[in-house]
Amino acid sequence: GYRSRAAFKISEIDEKFRFFKKGARVIDLGCAPGGWLQIAVERGVTQLVGVDLLHVDPVEPAHIIEMDFTDPACPPRLIELLGGAPDLVMSDMAPNTVGHRETDHLRIVGLIEIGAEFAIETLRPGGAFVAKAFQGGETAEVIARLKKHFEKVQHFKPKASRQDSSEVFLVATGFKGR
Ligand code: SAM
Repeated sequence: GYRSRAAFKISEIDEKFRFFKKGARVIDLGCAPGGWLQIAVERGVTQLVGVDLLHVDPVEPAHIIEMDFTDPACPPRLIELLGGAPDLVMSDMAPNTVGHRETDHLRIVGLIEIGAEFAIETLRPGGAFVAKAFQGGETAEVIARLKKHFEKVQHFKPKASRQDSSEVFLVATGFKGR
């Protein structure tokens, strides 16, 4: 079985966008407990690297590291382990909420921004970026930035995402370069 409910979300996202294929290089930010990695591997991806603050049990043949993605040493480590530029950067990173609306909000947006910058800096032309976001979030700036670098930027709400939650995924495709 799958290790997370999140697995069903990426499954739907991939059914629509078809990111997971043999030969694709994938980076998974905030990968614990490993559901997204399981789906990627099941669909034929063999070159993939995941990172999380938490320990993750192996998902062969993925390389998984236990690290804070906001640590400046992390992004180069991910590229090194992948052995080249990614075709897909996907992020399900969510901060631990503190219960203070604005603080929580800033942290969420911060993680989306840092993921987006990493994608823009590293993706191969034609590549894609997927990130968990929240409706009503102040993501206008990051969306504007993504629109400059990608052919298309869309919102996608998987059925597996609770309908009463504000969770929505940002999907940027057709990376145009830096
Ligand atoms: N996609 C995963 C799956 O299918 O199993 C679920 C991911 S879970 C919703 C979000 C994860 O983001 C948590 O495991 C959390 O530890 C991780 N996370 C949050 N901030 C992070 C950071 N700065 N660096 C690395 N991981 C982070």
